[in-house]
Amino acid sequence: MNLHLKSIKELRSLLDGGDITAQELTQYYLDRIEKLDPAIHAYITVNEKAMEQAERAQKMIEEGCAKPLTGIVLGIKDNICTKGLRTTCASHMLEDFVPTYNSTVAEKLAEDGAIFIGKLNMDEFAMGASTTTSYFGNTCNPYDTDCVPGGSSGGSAAAVAAGLCVASLGSDTGGSIRQPAAFCGVTGLKPTYGRVSRSGLVAFASSLDQIGPIGKSARDCAVLLDAISGEDPMDMTSRPSEPVAEMMGAPVEGTVIGVPKEFFGEGLNEEIKAAVENAIKEFEAMGCVIKEVSMPSLKYAIPAYYLIGSAEASSNLARYDGVRYGHLSKEGNSFDERLIATRNEGFGSEVKRRILLGSYALSSGYFDAYYKKANLLRRRIRQEYEEIFKTCDCILTPTTPEAAFKFGTKSEDPTEMYLADIYTVTVNIAGLPAVSTPCGYTKEGLPIGMSIVGKAFADGQILNLADAFEKKFNYILNDFCL
Ligand code: GLN
Repeated sequence: MNLHLKSIKELRSLLDGGDITAQELTQYYLDRIEKLDPAIHAYITVNEKAMEQAERAQKMIEEGCAKPLTGIVLGIKDNICTKGLRTTCASHMLEDFVPTYNSTVAEKLAEDGAIFIGKLNMDEFAMGASTTTSYFGNTCNPYDTDCVPGGSSGGSAAAVAAGLCVASLGSDTGGSIRQPAAFCGVTGLKPTYGRVSRSGLVAFASSLDQIGPIGKSARDCAVLLDAISGEDPMDMTSRPSEPVAEMMGAPVEGTVIGVPKEFFGEGLNEEIKAAVENAIKEFEAMGCVIKEVSMPSLKYAIPAYYLIGSAEASSNLARYDGVRYGHLSKEGNSFDERLIATRNEGFGSEVKRRILLGSYALSSGYFDAYYKKANLLRRRIRQEYEEIFKTCDCILTPTTPEAAFKFGTKSEDPTEMYLADIYTVTVNIAGLPAVSTPCGYTKEGLPIGMSIVGKAFADGQILNLADAFEKKFNYILNDFCL
């Protein structure tokens, strides 16, 4: 039985019908990880207590109190705190950090009887677009192991694509769920800001960060989203929201889809352009109305994002002093010397670059020139979205300008990598929901993703559109899934 190809719903009925037990499903994935993960390296840590969780889940099932995710095997990005299970953020700084508490999302999933099979690789502190800044080494793309899986949630996307968990959690500050989902041919949702609690997510840029699901389909993402959503007293920015899973299958006819022309200009790979244009035709055939719209500020999106993101990161990462938790250097004779050595040893170069950039942008002489300007741009980008949403229900764009690239092909210049986020960052800047779903493959067989962006809290509507498209889409499985 190819259990790794089954949807959450199919697994649910196998579990509830007694065809398989939660222990068997867990063992199935542990075996797959042992056999296949050495070639992918999606996992930083495999959970030794997964089988204990499975026993508890099986009991819930037998007692008739199964929830949608009871006994379902999930991978968790390694910046999401899991009680008693090492949470490294892919950093030397947190290499030995074992949280004494669960993040709100982990707590919700644990209560529902979901199984945490392990913690997934990522770019260090979620800073990157290739999972090559991880202290624990690279994750490979299941479609071509010479290629990156995207990032920062590269492990989360690769694990789902290679069938090393049923679905996973990632986090998205500027595209880190959608871009790796696109590179690995799976579906990933960045929820509306505030839909999912950030309590227990290791903070990168608090006004942009959001935890979200990665799955084999929009439907699987919807089930996972419902399980983790909700207002949380531990996160003042969280808000209540309506469940989305039951919205799947609603008619999409008449939906007005805006297509911003700036997203199809220079820099977009031809094959990706063609695949997204095909998807647009597919939506038209389903009765959606396509409307060309404009987002003139797209050209400022990358500088605005990297200023805001790095400014917040420099403040959030100031807490790593080695005193309360995390790496502590043995060097230095004074507090200051020790602090400097700790941070110098603990952080990798991309993290240091962001801290430097952010501290500079926030420093008194430059605050107005950089940080303040970036926030003005943030307002302008929000206004442009509002303008589009006056006449459109949602927006369709490519997820990335190019497909997965080979390891080592980006130059030393970090801005080359930063451009990978051009189509995703405005969504975080505006706090909107967006889902990336596969819409084609390149000649080399690498997946291509498109993104559907919705109005705030219209996560269900965009997942439903993705679902409608997925039903018509011909998936090509990678070698690990065959
Ligand atoms: N690639 C982007 C960055 O490096 C996005 C990261 C993210 O969403 N966590 O900042």
